[in-house]
Amino acid sequence: MQIADKLAELREESAALIAVYDAQDRLRYANAAFRKTYFVQPGETPLWSDLWRRNWEAGRGAIIAHPDIDAWLASAISRRGKVPRRSFESDLVDGRWLWIVETVQPDGWMLFIATDITELRRDERELRQLRDLATRASETDELTDISNRRHMWALLENLLGGTHPSTKRQGCLCLFDLDLFKQINDRFGHQAGDTVLVDFARTVQGSIRLRDGFGRIGGEEFMLLMPDTSILHAKKIVDRIFAAIHERRPLPDAQDFAYTFSAGLAEIKAGDTPQAVYSRADQALYQAKHEGRDRLALAA
Ligand code: GH3
Ligand code: MG
Ligand code: MG
Repeated sequence: MQIADKLAELREESAALIAVYDAQDRLRYANAAFRKTYFVQPGETPLWSDLWRRNWEAGRGAIIAHPDIDAWLASAISRRGKVPRRSFESDLVDGRWLWIVETVQPDGWMLFIATDITELRRDERELRQLRDLATRASETDELTDISNRRHMWALLENLLGGTHPSTKRQGCLCLFDLDLFKQINDRFGHQAGDTVLVDFARTVQGSIRLRDGFGRIGGEEFMLLMPDTSILHAKKIVDRIFAAIHERRPLPDAQDFAYTFSAGLAEIKAGDTPQAVYSRADQALYQAKHEGRDRLALAA
């Protein structure tokens, strides 16, 4: 018997939960232990977010200590697949505790391995959980649940420093600023303004790839980091975002209300510092505003 066949047999029988996700975050392989824990039928290939949502609705699988599943998914996706290696604890509805190790390749494929640690180091569990919650909070924007400025800056530094899953130190950075946002607040109130900000965050997150980092870096300012992406491809992604936002009507009390944004796009150059690429994108954003808003400008 070939070693690869033997490995396949052992993988299927292992008590460890083993799974593989592709670059679109679709489950492409799951062994028996994984399928049993997360309620996946043999041969099924759900998207990670669909699998989590479905288990949350059925009250099974991982414990999701958040009243809003969309907010929880937005926050999880902001940190998922963005570093080459990640490990953390996770507790299940059935009372088990897992130690999860994720490995991400430059092309975006991910290996997931989890082992049952229910009986291990129970005493410090609460402390470790609080630590993980604190880390997560320090990387998450409170209003929209996507990455915050600190996390976006860390992702940019990782990419330029070669510690991102993509080791090529290439890609594009796009800055977004909602147009005439002050008027939206003045006209519909601050609460409606917040609704628009969440709508923008959710819509953009639905238009990008798992490997892309996306966060809110200021009041109505957002950043999108697209590793290993040419300027032409990045422009297509941003054009898609424009099309998606133009369709949005986020205010239930003002059903005709639509909003726009402006964007500045810069390509990472060899030897770039985070500040250098950020400032080129910011210049381009300024130009987009100057040229009349609701448009993209490319950095010189
Ligand atoms: P421009 O098209 O030039 O960007 O115009 P603008 O009105 O968007 O620009 P400006 O920077 O003057 O205004 C930004 C506004 O965003 C001002 C501030 O009240 C509002 N804002 C900042 N943070 C929040 C927030 O968390 N919620 C809400 N509702 N509004 C916010
Ligand atoms: Mg602004
Ligand atoms: Mg603005």
